[in-house]
Amino acid sequence: MCKEFVGGTWVESGASETFPVTNSSTGALIAKTPLGGAAEVDRAVQAALAAFPEWAETPVVKRTQVMFRFKQLFEAHADEIGWIEHGKTHAEALGEIRRGIEVVEMACSLPLAYKGETLANVGGGVDYETHRYPLGVCAAIAPFNFPAMIPMWSLPIAVTCGNTFILKPSHQVPLTAMREMELLSEAGLPPGVVNLVHGAREASEALLVHPDVRSITFVGSTAVAESIYKTGTAHGKRVQSAGGAKNHLVVMPDAVPGPTVDAIMSSAFGSAGERCMAVATVIAVGDVAEPLLSALREKAAALKVGPTDIDETAGMGALISHAHLERILSYIDIGVEEGATLLLDGRMVKVDNAQEGAFVGASIFDHVQPDMRIAREEIFGPVLCVMRVPDLDTAIDWLNRNPHGNAACIFTQDGRAGRELRRHARCGMIGINVGVPAPMGFFPFTGWSGSFFGDLHLQGLEGMAFFTQQKVIMKRWFDSEGSVVDKDRSGWV
Ligand code: NAD
Repeated sequence: MCKEFVGGTWVESGASETFPVTNSSTGALIAKTPLGGAAEVDRAVQAALAAFPEWAETPVVKRTQVMFRFKQLFEAHADEIGWIEHGKTHAEALGEIRRGIEVVEMACSLPLAYKGETLANVGGGVDYETHRYPLGVCAAIAPFNFPAMIPMWSLPIAVTCGNTFILKPSHQVPLTAMREMELLSEAGLPPGVVNLVHGAREASEALLVHPDVRSITFVGSTAVAESIYKTGTAHGKRVQSAGGAKNHLVVMPDAVPGPTVDAIMSSAFGSAGERCMAVATVIAVGDVAEPLLSALREKAAALKVGPTDIDETAGMGALISHAHLERILSYIDIGVEEGATLLLDGRMVKVDNAQEGAFVGASIFDHVQPDMRIAREEIFGPVLCVMRVPDLDTAIDWLNRNPHGNAACIFTQDGRAGRELRRHARCGMIGINVGVPAPMGFFPFTGWSGSFFGDLHLQGLEGMAFFTQQKVIMKRWFDSEGSVVDKDRSGWV
């Protein structure tokens, strides 16, 4: 059974129920996640509370130095950490680690942003300045799909800002985050600054209502994200809550075919589609649909599906679980029932060397309409929907009908078309000839609508603002006669 990291040591959870963690390529049991609750959460909160005063008083430059050592350790162990759990290819696993390290690097530069603003002599001899302070105990609840990277969207920033931290990884992938705790400790973080609790709904809910937790960072599905936001804010916490997505990629008739097809392939089928920035729907404008679909169908049909940890030639790995596989298969059934044309059926895929794995092949639906469930709801697997529209206005109208708001992309050589999409798409991340516009760590991850609940997003300077509170200091000085020291020295200049 997985242990919890509390106050700098590994301790048993008191939970009696566990969740079986499997290698989803083979079905083999690799760990058991204890499904902890209020008692486990409170133990971690007490450790984080005890560590807070000293860590908050540690100069930001020293906190940054620890983060820099963590970055070096993370890089040195990237290969090992990337492979602990989930079915990504080697390149995808290393890409995930790299994106996580980018946020650690951003945290290493925090003193530059952490310093305040000043305005001298606002009037009457008064000078202004601002100082930042940490909040206290901050918590993050992470999803399964990027077990190494997503904890890094908040942890390095929160901790470098002087907070102490509790991470609850997904119950489906507990091991990667545990390894990260070991490296953070090895880097020199004092006991209690970072802590890890295991569990699912009960543990999340205990964090949301605990009076000593000051902020919640959540990443996961939309329904849970919304309820986390409502409960967390009702309990007086800052909450940044990122939900699910349904991203669109518009292909204009003048798009350069080669890079467009490559971008759609990697965006739709990379990480087996289990990616909040995956392209779920391609909107083909004008007469581009036929040649585009024929190229996509050919490439997607040739994509080799298999157990990526033993077969280096596999281009797409297993899904997270058989339960998730069932969900994806049910969406393929729904698409057929709704009348979309199933151009490529991933249900037919055969994986000889890993028959117990949760595999599905790349699937493509053509003639998808915006009100179909397969167009509106997040499938979170390698199922690509294709819509055909006569013009860009219809494309923008159709993508804006979707309740999610993470990303929209356009492939075109026409700057005007790119500008139209950038201005009118109702989502927070835009790609122009870029298939997965996931911002690097020094920019915020700016989901809109059903893809984000809260005010300050994860990563970047918004992340730093989320994890700090400010004081504005107004000061003036008197001479011995009681007059404000504000002599007019302009004649000296
Ligand atoms: P999930 O919502 O099922 O679980 C997320 C986390 O919440 C896990 O730690 C889980 O243990 C916990 N949890 C599960 N049910 C809960 C409940 N009822 N109450 C409280 N906590 C609960 O998400 P998932 O399946 O692990 O991850 C996939 C989802 O995450 C997809 O919808 C994907 O789009 C989304 N995601 C979004 C982003 C983003 O940046 N917007 C990034 C990655 C993943």
